[in-house]
Amino acid sequence: MNADEFREQGKKMIDYVAKYLDTIGDRRVTPNVEPGYLKSLIPLEAPEIGEKFDDIMADIEPKIMNGMVHWQHPRFHAYFPSGASYPSILADILGDVLGVIGFSWASGPACTEMEGIVLDWLGKMMGLPETFLQSNEKGNGGGCIQTSASECVLVSILAARALAIQKLKKQSPNADEGVLLSKLMAYCSKEAHSCLEKGSMIAFTKLRILDTDENFCLRGETVKKAMEEDIKNGLVPFFVSTTIGTTSCCSVDNIKEIGPICEQNDVWLHVDAAYAGCAQICDEFRWMFEGIEYAMSVNTNPNKWLLTNFDCSCFWVRDRFKLTQALVVDPLYLQHSYSERSVDYRHWGIPLSRRFRSLKLWFVIRIYGIEGLQNYIRNHVKLAKVFEGYVKADDRFEIMNKVDMGLVCFRLKGSNGLNQKLLSTINASGKIHMVPASLNDKYVIRFCVCSETATEDDMKFAWNVITQTAGEIGTTER
Ligand code: PLP
Repeated sequence: MNADEFREQGKKMIDYVAKYLDTIGDRRVTPNVEPGYLKSLIPLEAPEIGEKFDDIMADIEPKIMNGMVHWQHPRFHAYFPSGASYPSILADILGDVLGVIGFSWASGPACTEMEGIVLDWLGKMMGLPETFLQSNEKGNGGGCIQTSASECVLVSILAARALAIQKLKKQSPNADEGVLLSKLMAYCSKEAHSCLEKGSMIAFTKLRILDTDENFCLRGETVKKAMEEDIKNGLVPFFVSTTIGTTSCCSVDNIKEIGPICEQNDVWLHVDAAYAGCAQICDEFRWMFEGIEYAMSVNTNPNKWLLTNFDCSCFWVRDRFKLTQALVVDPLYLQHSYSERSVDYRHWGIPLSRRFRSLKLWFVIRIYGIEGLQNYIRNHVKLAKVFEGYVKADDRFEIMNKVDMGLVCFRLKGSNGLNQKLLSTINASGKIHMVPASLNDKYVIRFCVCSETATEDDMKFAWNVITQTAGEIGTTER
């Protein structure tokens, strides 16, 4: 494809994309296909000779779109939002065109410096303490963009593990590292995301999954007791991951209580705020971050709730050297003469190659402004309250979580089976899409406000589908 064709096809693609989003509400939210559907539609061998772009585009509707879950659909209420917006998409085009692999300052000065500056912007917008900011000359803090919250959690575990082993080695220089590793214990609540289990599996460290209070929040006393027990048994607490906005029900761990316990025990405190961290740009939600000054690391995903396309998982550390000491390897071919005066993000994570991801966050923050992003978050929270009101007004249903953000967990008063049937019938209709969670062994339905332009009409529509379906399947057990 040459530049002229690129211009021509690029314009057509932009038109197609804008039309798709303008008319997305006319589509089913979920596809009506079975696993393997694409095999009968697409040749199983790659073409020997190059094809025409128009021919590929002609395949999009019948082959791709018919197999899509439309995450940007106004009636998509599953998981958490998948951030997307026009400025973010346009910035990503530019990032793709540049094709920079910004693993070091020298490999991409603009890419590296923009990342630090934009992470400081967002950190300040969220009210993070100065200790997390790169511009704070008194500290060693700073932020970077990782691919996912799971990766942020994993690198935090790896940094905490390296620090703990180093400390134990000082106490017992002749001890075998494998033996020391076997003593390390991490903690999280039973509502923490499964990436904690995965991260611990990869790091080969133990993970103790703790109970929560009646609001599904992890409390200080629970952490303290667990650590005391483990220390008595010869184990070494080294890492606690708290969640601000759990995946199942958006509960908020009490970092104000847990922080001092981590500090007393010299334990790395991580705050996983993948979704709800984005809401910290609004003052009224800052109570969730009380105690954040105790954290060694924090993450939030603008690619969830700040209109920025995947991938853009923001990660801040209070001491970047404690992070990088776990991750630095420095072959000659990656070194450069400015390393003393610059940041090399390859030492902050697992992959060497890094895209110019801060461009899209820069575009988004500049186009919407802080106020525009606050309005977006506040609209979602307000709409979740509207939806919660519908559920509360219907005594066949019950609310199962504290609705502070854009997520409402609800269920029919009845068996798990009944609720399962309700959800599967609704999802099969393609009219709206939600996913389940389990809270205290109860099957609950998660309703999340996801669309950028969500309105009260969308809430009403969803509620009508839910109540109609409940009426059809019958709300009493037979
Ligand atoms: N942590 C929390 C609280 C989440 O809600 C999620 C996903 O929804 C994750 C971690 C994992 O996110 P990612 O897909 O970015 O790894």
